[in-house]
Amino acid sequence: MQAEIITIGDELLIGQVVDTNSAWIGQTLNKANIRIKRINSISDDAEEIKSQLKDCLNRSELIIITGGLGPTKDDITKKTLADFFGMGWRTDTTVLSQLEMFFKSRGREMLEANKLQAELPEKCLTLMNDWGTAPGMWFDVDDKVVISLPGVPFEMKNIIEHRAMPLIMKKFIQPELYHKTIVTINVPESLLAKKIESVEDSLPSYIKLAYLPNMNMVRLRLTGSGDNDIKQEIDAYAKQIIDIVGENVVVDEDITMPELIFRMLNAKGKTLSIAESCTGGLISHQMTLLPGASKVFVGSVVSYSNSVKHHQLGVESTLFETVGAVSEPVVTQMAIGVRERLQTDYSIAVSGIAGPGGGSDEKPVGTVVIGVSSGKNTVVVRQHFIGDRSHVIGRSANAAFDMLRKLMLEELDE
Ligand code: ATP
Repeated sequence: MQAEIITIGDELLIGQVVDTNSAWIGQTLNKANIRIKRINSISDDAEEIKSQLKDCLNRSELIIITGGLGPTKDDITKKTLADFFGMGWRTDTTVLSQLEMFFKSRGREMLEANKLQAELPEKCLTLMNDWGTAPGMWFDVDDKVVISLPGVPFEMKNIIEHRAMPLIMKKFIQPELYHKTIVTINVPESLLAKKIESVEDSLPSYIKLAYLPNMNMVRLRLTGSGDNDIKQEIDAYAKQIIDIVGENVVVDEDITMPELIFRMLNAKGKTLSIAESCTGGLISHQMTLLPGASKVFVGSVVSYSNSVKHHQLGVESTLFETVGAVSEPVVTQMAIGVRERLQTDYSIAVSGIAGPGGGSDEKPVGTVVIGVSSGKNTVVVRQHFIGDRSHVIGRSANAAFDMLRKLMLEELDE
C-alpha cells in the first residue's frame, strides 16, 4: 500500500515556509509501515489541486493533504475537494458547537467566516480539530482514502495522531514493522559505513539499514517486517554494529541527546547547570524543550562577553589576556563557576569561535572548547568543528551533551 502527501500553499513554493508537515507525516506513516511514494507541494490553485489529486489517486491508496482549510479567501482546499468529488454541503453540528465554545471561552465574536468552518462536504467524515477551528476531513473514494488537514503543524499533528491514524490502521492493516535505532557521534557517515560494511553486507533482504546523519551524529536505523523472530534477528544485528562502533555509540534507542541526558540525570536525581558562550543558550533551550526539564535543569548563564564570564562565573580576567576566552583554563573556570554558583551536581560549559570571522592560525573558526564538571571531576576538551556558524553551534551542543554522558557513565562505574 502506497501513500502520497500533497502540501498546499504558495508560501511553501517561494520558500517563505519550510514544508515540515511532509517530513513529520512521512516519519509517522513510516513508523506504521506505510510507504510514502511521493511528496507534492503545490500552489493554492483549484485546478492545480484537482489535477494533482487525480494523479495521486491513480498512483496511491492514501493521500494526505495539508493546508488551505482556514477561514480566509485564499483557503480554497475544502471547496475544491467538494467540487472534485461532486459533493453538496452539510453543517456539522458538533464542529459548530465546538466553534461556539472556542470563541466564547476566548471572549471573541464568532464571525460568519468562522461559522462556515462547520460547513463540510456532505459525504466526508469529520476529523475533529481539538486545537483549532478548521476540522480535518476523511473522504472514502472506492478503496482509497483522501485526508485533508489544516496546514498549521501542531493542529495537523494532533488530528493525525488522535483521529486519522487509528482509522488508517483499521482501513489498511499493515504487517508489523520493527525498527531499531543506534545513535552514534563523531564518526562521519562514510567511515561508519566502512566500519560496519561486513554487517551491512550480511543483512537479509527483508532487513534494511538506513543512515540518518545530522551534524556530528548519525542515526543508524535497522528496519524489518516479518514473523515473530524479526525483533530478535534485528537486535542481534544491532548488537554486532554496537560492538564494532564501540564508544561512539551514544544510545541504542530512537531518542535525542537532550532526552538521554535528561533521563540519566533524572534517574539519579542529579541536577545540571550550563554556562554558554558561543552556543548562546542553545543547550539550555534543548533541555527546556523537554517536559519535566525542571526536575534536572536548574539554569544557565549565557556568558557571551568576557565581562559576564568574569562577573557572573568568576573566571579570572587575566586569563582573557593570557590564553583567551576560547581556552581550556577559561572553560574550566566557567564549568566550575556555574556549577558552584547555581549549586548543581553537574555542569556544562562551552566557549568557541563559531565564525565566519574571529579565527586565527592558532584558533581557527570552528575551534570550540567544551567542559563538563561534577564535584569530583572536571573534563575539558578542545574540538574543531567544520561547517557554518549554525553547524558549529549545533555540533558543539551535541558534543557537550556527549561529554556529560561519558562523565556520568564513568562516575557511575566508580
Ligand atoms: P489556517 O488558515 O486556519 O491557519 P490552513 O489550513 O488554512 O490553516 P494554511 O493557511 O495553509 O493552513 O497554513 C497556516 C500556517 O501553517 C502557515 O502560515 C504556515 O506557517 C503553516 N504551514 C502550512 N503548511 C505547512 C507545511 N507544509 N509545513 C509547515 N508549516 C506549514
